[in-house]
Amino acid sequence: MSHCLVTGGAGFIGSHLCEQLIQQGEQVTAVDDLSTGFLQNLDSIIDHPQFTFRTGSITDPVLMAEMVQGVDTIYHLAAAVGVKLVADNPVRTIETNIYPTEVLLRHAVQGGHKFFLASTSEVYGKNPKERWTEEDDLHFGPTTRPRWAYGASKAIDEFLALAYHQKYGLDVRIGRFFNVVGPRQVGQYGMVIPSFIEQALDGGPVVVFDDGTQIRCFGHVSEIVDCVIDLTNLDDAKGQVYNIGSDEPVSICELAEAIIAKVNPEVKIEYLPYNKAYNEDFEDVRRRVPDLGRLEKTLGRKPQVKLDAILDDIIASKKKIRGLV
Ligand code: NAD
Repeated sequence: MSHCLVTGGAGFIGSHLCEQLIQQGEQVTAVDDLSTGFLQNLDSIIDHPQFTFRTGSITDPVLMAEMVQGVDTIYHLAAAVGVKLVADNPVRTIETNIYPTEVLLRHAVQGGHKFFLASTSEVYGKNPKERWTEEDDLHFGPTTRPRWAYGASKAIDEFLALAYHQKYGLDVRIGRFFNVVGPRQVGQYGMVIPSFIEQALDGGPVVVFDDGTQIRCFGHVSEIVDCVIDLTNLDDAKGQVYNIGSDEPVSICELAEAIIAKVNPEVKIEYLPYNKAYNEDFEDVRRRVPDLGRLEKTLGRKPQVKLDAILDDIIASKKKIRGLV
């Protein structure tokens, strides 16, 4: 049994990760400031003898020094997340996403801890390639547009992690998550699938930003978390960056139509320009599709769950929360 620290453990992905680690027999300590996460996400494990939860911020260096004591592995997922939150609050994004990562990486070097760093497909910015490989260029927009602060802050985290690997042999791997979805994800921070499902359950309209031709790929959180744990346990993944997600593209319009067909075919779609949804400066990424070759080569598999099954799972969980099933 090893002892894992999960930052952002009460979040959407973090809570699934904690559950999976507990199921595998690990001892898990989670830390979260509950800013976008919820304690209820941990209901199934909160009383488990091998699980400990601590409310607190990764921006508190004293707390972090305490939290890493006796730990073998650090899964660093806490971050200011979500396009809306980031566009609205660039200061919080930068302060949460850069310095605390540096503090935790230093602890990992000193303590010899294994480290998984959660990064994002946002680091590719608006690279126009059809499919992004981990060696592709990062194409950010200007610094006058705060939405790029999220991807840029995670890119700095990646540079730091890789520099510590090169200089001090830090046992780190980096996962660039593409759209990760599943039960417990909430729509209020701009996540598209929970937003669409909640709008459809409310009777509509389902609000599609821009013209809905943007392309995304959606991976089920259970498979993503399995990839994270397996990569962290593999020596071959040391010092590597991995795209993690689904590689099956779907347009946002197709997604809205699929959700409406499943939830309530009477619901209408409404289109909203980005400058009304966010602000005048907002710039979106038209296409975001990973090349999963490196992940497949290392793990011998890639996420497989189809969008249809993913939507059924999330719709069922949203209906359960509303007492509809
Ligand atoms: P989430 O908001 O549910 O999880 C983030 C968690 O971090 C939350 O529980 C939040 O309360 C916590 N947190 C934020 N600031 C904190 C602080 N200062 N101290 C302690 N805890 C803090 O979002 P998520 O989707 O589960 O994201 C988890 C990680 O995955 C993040 O690093 C995010 O950048 C990355 N990611 C997610 C996706 C996705 O599709 N969900 C895509 C790309 C990257």
